[in-house]
Amino acid sequence: MNPRRIVSGIVVGASIAACASFAFAHEFSSAGKCTFAKRPPLVLKGDQIQGFCKFDHDTQSFAGSPADQARCLLNPVEPVGRLGPPLDALPASIAERVGKSVDLPAQAALAALLRDRGATEDLVATLAQPVSHAHDNDPLSRPATYMVFHDTSTPNYRTQPWPVSIDDDPKINNLSRYECSNDIERAHVFINRGGKIFLAHDFSVPWRATKFESAKNFGSALKGLFLHVELIQPRRALKSYGRRNDFLAPTPGFSQAQYDSLALVYTVASRRAGFWMIPAFHSVLDEGIRNKHDDPQNFDLAQFAQSLDALIGELRTRTAAADAESQSRKSD
Ligand SMILES: [Zn+2]
Repeated sequence: MNPRRIVSGIVVGASIAACASFAFAHEFSSAGKCTFAKRPPLVLKGDQIQGFCKFDHDTQSFAGSPADQARCLLNPVEPVGRLGPPLDALPASIAERVGKSVDLPAQAALAALLRDRGATEDLVATLAQPVSHAHDNDPLSRPATYMVFHDTSTPNYRTQPWPVSIDDDPKINNLSRYECSNDIERAHVFINRGGKIFLAHDFSVPWRATKFESAKNFGSALKGLFLHVELIQPRRALKSYGRRNDFLAPTPGFSQAQYDSLALVYTVASRRAGFWMIPAFHSVLDEGIRNKHDDPQNFDLAQFAQSLDALIGELRTRTAAADAESQSRKSD
């Protein structure tokens, strides 16, 4: 299915930044054809081949249980992409669910919630579709298991001050900046600071967005194993790294609406995969690789976990209400 059909239909126009969280972005004018600098895939060597979280290329997973993997892949990322001390523990709402199907919402409850948030029927219908598979969509390979969180690191204000309100600024939050008329957007999903969601590639589309996945060593083996979500975050230049760098991130890094929408995107993908996917930070995946990216900066894992708990609670209430209604209809 052409994902662009999913975003057509309802005109959002100039109200993108003012819309409530969770809403889907529809029909904005594309930024046109995208051109990204062509970089030949890297040849990884030594420890780079397994990466920071010890990827096993036979099982196509990182070391340990899904919770162990998430704890490693969500290692805090500090300025300039340095990794901070490891997490002592994951928030319970991730630790208790990741890799399992416990608390996955009923498809009907999630469909109803998506309709309430403005999703088209095309999009709702994708809930019944599988996610991509590794080896460039080989159905016999592992399904997409990891969801990689990124920040866009754009726009870069360099040595200028931050705009007055980055969460409402129309330039920062213009999702059309990330749409490509030639369908080569860099992630599956983009979320602006108002919580607006732009679906660039459906989760059934195998797509790579990190140096690790794209390394020459692996051919297309990792293509389809990871889903990618970009959260809009502007940047500035950090002193003593030159005027053009983009290492300085805002504090807090993301808005509440972004965490709420990320929780929704994560839940939709997990429902489609049949288990809670293993979240990961881009910078951790590419750790040890030269010129790796530094994102996401200032990601508050506890805040994301709270958004996830709130969403799961809401979906549970909806399911219980629907069950009670059908019971009372039966007894009438
Ligand atoms: Zn990234």
